[in-house]
Amino acid sequence: MNSGKSSVMNLLTQQETSIVDPTPGTTADTQIALQEIHGIGPVKLFDTAGLDETGKLGEKKRHKTLNDLKECDLVLLVIDPATRDIRTEQDVIEKARDLDKQILIVYNHFDPTPTAPIEEALDLLRFYKKIHIEANNVKYRAGLIDFILKNYTPKQDTTELLPFVRKDEYYVLIIPMDVETPPGRFLRPQAMVEEYITRHWAYPVSFRLDLGKARGAREQAEEENTRFQRFLKNFKKRPHTMITDSQAMDIMKDWCPPDIGLTTFSIVMINYFSRGRLHTFAAGVKALETVKSGDKVLIVEACNHSRIGEDIGTVQIPNHFAKHYPGVTIEHNFGREFQDNKQLEQYTLIIHCGGCMISAQKLQARLRDLETVGVPITNYGVLLSYLQGPATLERVLKPFSRITAVTE
Ligand code: SF4
Repeated sequence: MNSGKSSVMNLLTQQETSIVDPTPGTTADTQIALQEIHGIGPVKLFDTAGLDETGKLGEKKRHKTLNDLKECDLVLLVIDPATRDIRTEQDVIEKARDLDKQILIVYNHFDPTPTAPIEEALDLLRFYKKIHIEANNVKYRAGLIDFILKNYTPKQDTTELLPFVRKDEYYVLIIPMDVETPPGRFLRPQAMVEEYITRHWAYPVSFRLDLGKARGAREQAEEENTRFQRFLKNFKKRPHTMITDSQAMDIMKDWCPPDIGLTTFSIVMINYFSRGRLHTFAAGVKALETVKSGDKVLIVEACNHSRIGEDIGTVQIPNHFAKHYPGVTIEHNFGREFQDNKQLEQYTLIIHCGGCMISAQKLQARLRDLETVGVPITNYGVLLSYLQGPATLERVLKPFSRITAVTE
């Protein structure tokens, strides 16, 4: 507390993003700012609460701050060099080292106290690059940014959204619009997929599937299938791959011809946001082979979209478990917060949505926690394909086969 983190935040963002006050513990919750830093690109800045506040509220703030630590790529540890009690600084450095985070030290001077006392007290500080600033003085801003640019090494992210897309090929997006579909726009996964295909000089073509009809009485299902076959006949060149809403897998596994690739939006998303770790989710689904009465399964959706009709997370998957895995308890987690490791230990399996509304860093922090406690995780697209049989699961993973083969 009171090392001047919020002043550093405001110095970087050049506005009053965070409230600055000498009262200890002023930052009650993490402040987030999005900013383009020339030389790095778009950056998300977290101004966290201090870790050294006591009491129940202090514990909550600490929990939040440690979650932010898990998700960040770079830790700017702001220290008042006049500090004498260095237990908190030591705690942060040790935790950040455990999580393999890059650390830079920002000495924020409130008065011209020499830095020797704290460096002598905390040997760990020797290992990190440091800068001395006065966060309340704007003249230090350029130097601080320059210091970050010089010393921060971004992790290389080479994960492609659709690694199978080739120039001049056609890709079909199967989009069953239902009551949950918002008017006026595609869902984020659909928009991202369409944009990626276009950007790579290939051709996205959408087919709106009437899922109710396709699953309906014979006559209706045939009518919808005929419309789909007509659609396919219009292609002079065969489409390369179809990307479908996962919930239509019961239909598309039969309708999509075997010479055309097939995968789902949810699989595309989870592979992308987990930085190519689809194999983790494919391996996790095998937990269903041993799940038994009395076990708990956690369904995780990373956003709070309106849940109406036959929602996958709250209706379709729970119904499937009630029918095929009696005695298994289903729990839910919606939104950006995630259980801590102690709570996660109670689950036999985690089933995660595509995760398109959280950052790759947040999803990776979740994977790291689950690895630590040894709880398997799978994903909607993987699960709904698995439920259609091993051949279907194999088929939807195939477009990513380089990833799954290399890493398994
Ligand atoms: S975050 Fe998850 S539940 Fe929300 S829109 Fe994306 S995939 Fe769907």
